[in-house]
Amino acid sequence: MGAGQSETARAGGGRPGEGADRPALPVLQLVGVSKRFDDFTAVDDISLDIREGEFLTIVGPSGSGKTTLLRMLAGLEQPSEGNITLRGTLINDLPARRRPTCLVFQSLALFPHMTVGRNIEFPLKAKGVSAAERKARALELLRMVRLPEAYYGKNVMTCSGGERQRVALARAFAYDPDVLFFDEPLSALDYKLKKLLEKELKDLHKETGKTFVYITHSLEEAMVMSDRIGVMRAGKLVQVGSPDAIYGQPQNRFVAEFVGEVNVIGVTLSNGAWLSQETAEPVRLVLPQTMAGAERAAVVIRPEYMKFLAAPGDADNVVSGRVYNEYSLGSRIQYQVRAGERVFLIEMSRSQIRPGTGDGEVLIGWNAEDAIVVEA
Ligand code: ADP
Ligand code: MG
Repeated sequence: MGAGQSETARAGGGRPGEGADRPALPVLQLVGVSKRFDDFTAVDDISLDIREGEFLTIVGPSGSGKTTLLRMLAGLEQPSEGNITLRGTLINDLPARRRPTCLVFQSLALFPHMTVGRNIEFPLKAKGVSAAERKARALELLRMVRLPEAYYGKNVMTCSGGERQRVALARAFAYDPDVLFFDEPLSALDYKLKKLLEKELKDLHKETGKTFVYITHSLEEAMVMSDRIGVMRAGKLVQVGSPDAIYGQPQNRFVAEFVGEVNVIGVTLSNGAWLSQETAEPVRLVLPQTMAGAERAAVVIRPEYMKFLAAPGDADNVVSGRVYNEYSLGSRIQYQVRAGERVFLIEMSRSQIRPGTGDGEVLIGWNAEDAIVVEA
């Protein structure tokens, strides 16, 4: 950890949006930002406003440029092109230590030979805060990250993984940054602990009112915590929106598939009819107006909209297949139905009766209006 903080740099002066009725300035703004390593473009022409006090999560597969983007925001890397501004002031060249930001890594980089207390106090000591004041603040921060005060004198190496993550978080808050950056801080933790810390991070965000910019390859994690989500692919930001918008109105096939647990069917226009690329069956779909003139598309059907059919006429689009897996999702059941090469997911509540039971062939299908049609 330990990248950047600042008691000096408050570029841009007072907080925007306070009192005055001028529109709130984004805390951080990227305009046409790219980063090249030799001839490889890791971040490709990203423009994005990060709003004061929001919890923004950037998701994307490994290698999509998330860390590089964050390192530019934190001042650890300079853009090859484009501008980054902090409350209206250009900061492309402002070093990390002079930015009011702090980066929390997955690899915690706590000082192993120090106690929990001394780790948390480190930034305060660097600022010249008195010992008594440092301790009082460290104890306050321990409470904030839900660690017992008795941990103050504990050697940090004797803490568990989750506890160390909390110590790192407390130390980040000790810098009193305006913006906290998180680069996959929970990815090394087990599932249960991760879920707990996700919730706590969200609470901390609310309690502190700071701007959080969080990176993860797990959309599930992003969905739980974020006000907004940005999806990255191969250096580009392909969609930014609320979790609901990302889930409900994915912009293209990549985002829809990244959301996961959906049925996606590629279709092409042929002699006025949409045909599935997989089955060569005509597909009935409602093409959104924005896609008029398209010749390729992807049809996204959420598992809860896919149905078992009693008869072929019961849905606009029909596929026959065989149930080969059945999972309990608590109150719901997920079926996996294999149709030729592909597998469809169907979810229904336990109280629903599945037609066409038995080991034989089943008919499944969906109605045109229940599918989302997106760019291929
Ligand atoms: P992510 O965090 O989404 O997994 P990164 O931002 O770490 O992605 O990396 C994006 C791409 O940029 C990767 O292909 C990576 O190999 C490349 N890359 C990152 N840093 C450097 C560097 N310092 N030199 C060369 N290539 C780099
Ligand atoms: Mg990364």
